[in-house]
Amino acid sequence: MEDVQAKADEKTCPVQRALVFVEEFLAGPMCGKCFPCSMGSYEARIRIKRVADGNASDEDIDSINTISSHMLVASMCKRGKDTAKYIMEHMVSSEFADHLSGLCAKNECLPHVKYIIIPEKCTMCGDCLDACKDNAILGEKTKPYLSGYTPFEIVQKRCTKCGECMNVCKYGAVKLMSAREMAEAEKVGA
Ligand code: SF4
Ligand code: SF4
Ligand code: SF4
Repeated sequence: MEDVQAKADEKTCPVQRALVFVEEFLAGPMCGKCFPCSMGSYEARIRIKRVADGNASDEDIDSINTISSHMLVASMCKRGKDTAKYIMEHMVSSEFADHLSGLCAKNECLPHVKYIIIPEKCTMCGDCLDACKDNAILGEKTKPYLSGYTPFEIVQKRCTKCGECMNVCKYGAVKLMSAREMAEAEKVGA
């Protein structure tokens, strides 16, 4: 299980870590010798994915806790127990519950974040436009002696959240916002 854990540890968000661990565990053949592990790990994956995707409720968190504690007690081998332990260790963090209100503190759960362009910082250089393979950026590069350009903007529906625009922007004009920050900003603007 060391390779599974190493892959999960590459993430920093506890929800992503638990999800990667369970997905990697399930990627191999499942022996199915004991019910709490074979069924529990599938069910845990569904529930953890809901948390990562922003579709979870308190009930999902309770279920993940119950499933993992049953797995820990009833799994017949180390693999099942290690999976349960890893999930439980990461559920101790309040970050799991934070996802229910739209906050992924590490900005790794993509449904919880959005890339936006800050108009005041954008020089309209067009580097992000060239970098975006998904044609998700609207804007026109500035030309000398011309004015009247509209600010660059990211079309959220097309954005696949690859982060390339932020990597190439030399002016810090692309920002990663959590869904909670977006909701708060909308409230202030309302
Ligand atoms: S705990 Fe071990 S023996 Fe039981 S189903 Fe899981 S992998 Fe198989
Ligand atoms: S790379 Fe940055 S500064 Fe240039 S157009 Fe895009 S957001 Fe604006
Ligand atoms: S995050 Fe990726 S897909 Fe989205 S606007 Fe930036 S470059 Fe395009």
